[in-house]
Amino acid sequence: MIHKIVPLQKITSAFLTAHEINLYVYRLDLNHASISGNKLYKLHYNIDAAKKENKKTILTFGGAFSNHIAASAAAGKEYGLKTIGIIRGEECQKLNPTLRFAKEQGMELHYVSRMLYKNKNELNEYISNKFGEQNYYLIPEGGSNQLGIEGCKEITKNIPINFDSICCACGTGATFTGILLSIKTNQKAIGFQVLKAENYIKNEVSTWLNQFSSAQKNWEINDVYHFGGYAKLKTELLNFIQVFEKENDVPLDYIYTGKMMFGIYDLIKKGAFKKGHTIIAVHTGGLQGNLGFEN
Ligand SMILES: *Cc1c(COP(=O)(O)O)cnc(C)c1O
Repeated sequence: MIHKIVPLQKITSAFLTAHEINLYVYRLDLNHASISGNKLYKLHYNIDAAKKENKKTILTFGGAFSNHIAASAAAGKEYGLKTIGIIRGEECQKLNPTLRFAKEQGMELHYVSRMLYKNKNELNEYISNKFGEQNYYLIPEGGSNQLGIEGCKEITKNIPINFDSICCACGTGATFTGILLSIKTNQKAIGFQVLKAENYIKNEVSTWLNQFSSAQKNWEINDVYHFGGYAKLKTELLNFIQVFEKENDVPLDYIYTGKMMFGIYDLIKKGAFKKGHTIIAVHTGGLQGNLGFEN
């Protein structure tokens, strides 16, 4: 897989000037037409491994609006692998834009009840009974495994400037962990948890760091800006996204990057960053998910 060099876009505004903050958006949303943002990095070494192990099929998991499902379907098509998507919940009569796209890319969609989806042991048994003879390569939900994190270590590689803080939105924390493992100790990684669940990402990241034998301390997880959890859109968030897009020509999604950017602006307003601070906001993509809300 080839990673295109994407723009590091400087955001200029009277607000940022007044607070003496240098803010840049790293536009990973522009890295690929259909395997957008962090998902390309998370899939990179997983696809390599599947090929190396001579697998013909990738099997993975996600909700009906999952960016990972869309990206995996597109990656399968591009790299000549069959894809099976295990989708949480009942099949709807009309496919939403995410699932329609996945299907168009050739992904075989298989729906399981929320109850079964939640029970990982039972789900794994069900899947291996049903698809076992296909000798598939399994990618966990969100593409979040060790190889996914290895891929995300490369996100910062082409950032052409020095920075003090780097921010990203966290669903599972795997992308954040990869970014964290790649920065210098005098730089800080700040993750914005999008789900409402106490210490969820903090614990996940600690577990990942252990697996990578890292004792890094230069990170924090902010869990203030989840807006009630996935897809619970608050007017304040929607307004912020609209204004941000219009002023800076940077589209944001409602689930991840919109919340991160809202959080960054609120922290700047509250004086959480020193004057002269340079912040990188990683735009992890996810714009395909907006189609589901606009319909
Ligand atoms: C999946 C996704 C994330 C979350 O990535 P994790 O590695 O699961 O934390 C963040 N932003 C966007 C746009 C995503 O699609």
